[in-house]
Amino acid sequence: MRILTKEINAKLDQEVELAGWVAGRRDHGKIIFIDLRDRGGLAQLVFGPKTEAEVYRLGESLRPEWVIRIKGEVKKRPVGMENPELETGQYEVAVKEIQILNRSDPPPFPLETDGYEISEETRLKYRYLDLRRPRLQRNIKLRSEFTRRVRDFLFSHDFVEIETPLLTKSTPEGARDFIVPSRLHPGKFFALPQSPQQYKQLLMVAGFERYFQIARAIRDEDLRADRGFEHTQIDLEMSFVTREEVMALDEAMIIAVVESFGYQIKTKPFPVFSYQEAKEKFGSDRFDLRSEEEKAKGVLAFAWVVDFPFFEKDEKGEWTPTHNPFSAPKEEHLEWLLEGENIGAIVANQYDLVCNGYEVGGGSIRSHQPEVLKAVFRIIGYKDEEIERQFGHLLEAFRYGVPPHGGLAHGIERLLMTMTGETYLREVQAFPQTSSGRTSVMDAPSEIDEKQLAELHLRVIEPKSDSKKN
Ligand code: ASP
Repeated sequence: MRILTKEINAKLDQEVELAGWVAGRRDHGKIIFIDLRDRGGLAQLVFGPKTEAEVYRLGESLRPEWVIRIKGEVKKRPVGMENPELETGQYEVAVKEIQILNRSDPPPFPLETDGYEISEETRLKYRYLDLRRPRLQRNIKLRSEFTRRVRDFLFSHDFVEIETPLLTKSTPEGARDFIVPSRLHPGKFFALPQSPQQYKQLLMVAGFERYFQIARAIRDEDLRADRGFEHTQIDLEMSFVTREEVMALDEAMIIAVVESFGYQIKTKPFPVFSYQEAKEKFGSDRFDLRSEEEKAKGVLAFAWVVDFPFFEKDEKGEWTPTHNPFSAPKEEHLEWLLEGENIGAIVANQYDLVCNGYEVGGGSIRSHQPEVLKAVFRIIGYKDEEIERQFGHLLEAFRYGVPPHGGLAHGIERLLMTMTGETYLREVQAFPQTSSGRTSVMDAPSEIDEKQLAELHLRVIEPKSDSKKN
């Protein structure tokens, strides 16, 4: 039976069967060393003078990334030949049988380095190879374990995991929507969710009280190091809660999960700054509280920012929510909101979590009264018919006994970036987009054929050459 390379440590002088990829090969004339890589790590294989001639010949033929299965005997490495850097570094396997399961073209770039030196385009074109490198294996496995622990925490706090649709209606979260044409309803379109915001609020109307989802958020916005078209959120919502209660539960989750991986958190409970204070003290609401020494030690400095202005002026001089329109105003500013007065001074019941200079989460206590929500939409310039058309479903739901509620969402990639010290989102996502907005490996966006276009009732207008990038 096949075992993992790391298991050879307990198998001295025993025969083992291993399978994996050729990660490296050193040919010393009469002796060949092969590093065999599997999901658990690396082990050194040896083909030497005592190896049967046919097996030796096959050993000689091996090249990087070939897939092999071997049988052999676990031996202690000769004194002075141990490799303390390797988990299996005290041992090696003298190969007795070998089967070549598959050959590989020479990889387009080395896989044993951390990969930062290779261009993004090449790495993402061959992402399935890039992902073989140990650093990315670690990051992606950390991500999987991280979400597992988040789920465990939330389940143990009585949350229900509920999926919400991907084909939906646009929810304004400040970005452009990705649009999906409908075949059955000519001229009509779905939007991919910028977040499950409205659905999670509807789940509060539906009486679930504690919802979460590891949710994909899809936004057509300018790409940056820490932002892709798609990211994943830990999205939650709770009924009958105050802002402090949401923040406390969330903080307990972040602390439990992050510390379970051995990370050190700078200050607990997390310090809380008002937006105003943050701007005055740090000149930004995405500040980094770590000292230089703490940066070297990988400390995580979380802090809350609260009391954001509800609205700001956009480039056209119109009011727009700083976060999203579903937030409630602070109690004392409710009148202003309803009357449309002192708009710039209205404070939202919003909270953001920052860590090491990144915004790693945000949420709010929501408006649960239809007239408050309507007042927000009016301030941001919607006419009554438009409010009805875009948000009639939510306002209608709010007529049927909606509990007070609030919640928040964390960007999983940004949390993982702070934990791993990575500065690009692509280092913690399996198949990220390139910075020019194309997919990894598969060549999308791409053209579709005439038949598909016709089925979708679409005609493509050739872009003018100077507007191709928009
Ligand atoms: N939907 C919000 C976001 O994606 C988070 C929230 O307010 O719960 O940023």
